[in-house]
Amino acid sequence: MPLDILALAAHRDDVEQTCGGTLLKMAERGYRTGILDLTQGEMGTRGTAKDRAREAVEAARILKVSWRHALDIPDGRVENTWENRIKVARVIREQRPRVLILPYWEGRHPDHYTASVLGYEAAFLAGLAKLDLDKELRGVSTALPDEQGADKALKGHGFSRAANMPKDGGALAPETPGPHRPFKIIYASLYRDVRPTFVVDITGQFETRFASLMAYKSQFADQQAGSGIFPAQADIRARVESMARFYGMQAGVTYAEPFVQKEMGLFDDLLAIPVKSI
Ligand SMILES: [Zn+2]
Repeated sequence: MPLDILALAAHRDDVEQTCGGTLLKMAERGYRTGILDLTQGEMGTRGTAKDRAREAVEAARILKVSWRHALDIPDGRVENTWENRIKVARVIREQRPRVLILPYWEGRHPDHYTASVLGYEAAFLAGLAKLDLDKELRGVSTALPDEQGADKALKGHGFSRAANMPKDGGALAPETPGPHRPFKIIYASLYRDVRPTFVVDITGQFETRFASLMAYKSQFADQQAGSGIFPAQADIRARVESMARFYGMQAGVTYAEPFVQKEMGLFDDLLAIPVKSI
């Protein structure tokens, strides 16, 4: 069953911070949502990749996400390589989202802005009918003498299934289905101080979205490790709330999440345009 919306991000907990409320809102409307994390979080100051995998499953459950998977791209080294584009393109063909949410294309953390370009280029490749992704992945694997067959090739190249995935989530099919491109790509811009082209009202989802972030106990519970760079838990609440209120206020609602779209906005009915002007 295809996804309606797939959110892609560099790190587990990025989606929870930038567009978790929107994903939850869409799930509540009956859409199938998914999250693709490019890395597993092994470089994090706090906790291990295993902790993060467990926490990511819990966060996905809280956000009513139907599918979540983490690739094995090295944490802190997200690079826009052919191999990585193929890995992401394979997920796009398999999950067939209509809407793809990417991180904004500029930022402080190189993994974040690289994930943006990587995601866009992978979405393009996923639509090329003559590009055989399974062959591409096998091509990579034939360079490794101890790996034979698509299944092993996939295992060695980013498709090992993370432990404790949701019941029907996380697994990838042995054969990639045909070409697919998302209809719409939007950029979650919360990490970057840019003017969003639209915001999504998450007033009704704010508390649950915050709970999904707090599911990352290894990251956000007060502790000694990284106390110089991580804010205290009480601070996190204040920060997350201020950001959501800031964007909400500008659209006349309490809490919102910001997005950028590159295309022009299109309206049919001037009387249906939301957000009061004066
Ligand atoms: Zn991140």
